[in-house]
Amino acid sequence: MASAPTVKLNNGVEIPQLGFGVYQIPDDETAAAVGSALEAGYRSIDTAAIYGNEVGVSRAVAASGLAREDLFITTKVWNADQGYDATLRAFDASLAKLGTDYVDLYLVHWPAPARDLYLDTWRALEKLAAEGRIRAAGVSNFLPAHLRRLAEHSSLVPAVNQIELHPGLQQAELRALHAEQGIATEAWSPLAQGAVLGDDAIVSAAARHGKSPAQVVIRWHLQLGNVVIPKSATPERIRENIDVLDFTLSDEEMAAIAALDRGLRTGPDPDAFN
Ligand code: NAD
Repeated sequence: MASAPTVKLNNGVEIPQLGFGVYQIPDDETAAAVGSALEAGYRSIDTAAIYGNEVGVSRAVAASGLAREDLFITTKVWNADQGYDATLRAFDASLAKLGTDYVDLYLVHWPAPARDLYLDTWRALEKLAAEGRIRAAGVSNFLPAHLRRLAEHSSLVPAVNQIELHPGLQQAELRALHAEQGIATEAWSPLAQGAVLGDDAIVSAAARHGKSPAQVVIRWHLQLGNVVIPKSATPERIRENIDVLDFTLSDEEMAAIAALDRGLRTGPDPDAFN
């Protein structure tokens, strides 16, 4: 059974580098998908309040028989729940659905700049972290300006910024800023929801290694140092996506994939999504 390496966050907490994302999996199918993932060796699950499947995640965890401390669970506060008090209430609701008394990583899902509440939301995450109800506090979809503003108002540096990142959108500026500030880069839509799996550099590397294009892309993320959370609801693909620890892309292959960067955004622009 595969077991992913870990990345040490800026507060010493370790996150599995390869986790399982559950966006767009209906709640009543989530327990089966997460159950397959846990069986395949994933120990990190990425959900969000807005996905509506935190209960499905909790069912799979309960059925797995795994100890809570052997799992890494991420969830996120939704835009409509931003603000200090609303975030604390949303966190309690997520915990109840997840059937746990702490989460490993709690993220501000979007900066939602037009709401202008993310500094207050972040104070709520500071409190949750101080109380030990979250092991790490992070953000998602924050652009450089949002990270810099946060740093001006808080001494708590986000452990993670979870951003859209894949071979078509490589996010050089944010990755450099993260490295400077000590923030781990977590890649969402790491496969570009399939849109890069036919690219020549990826298909040819896959053929050379006897691997699938999806495995090549996930391996590329791992070699860059990204935390990565591919999603699938198909047991065979769930297993395939974690079976990436037995080969290494060459420098030439990494360079050929670097050349695929083309501003391909599959999700919303964080400056305009509220
Ligand atoms: P993804 O890039 O992981 O793509 C998933 C899709 O790729 C699947 O639905 C399937 O169609 C295809 N796929 C998966 N494995 C494959 C394989 N082995 N071979 C061929 N095709 C395969 O996209 P995603 O689900 O959008 O992102 C992954 C996770 O990131 C989500 O589940 C969620 O947890 C997180 N996410 C976070 C945000 C955010 O705003 N923070 C936004 C989107 C997603």
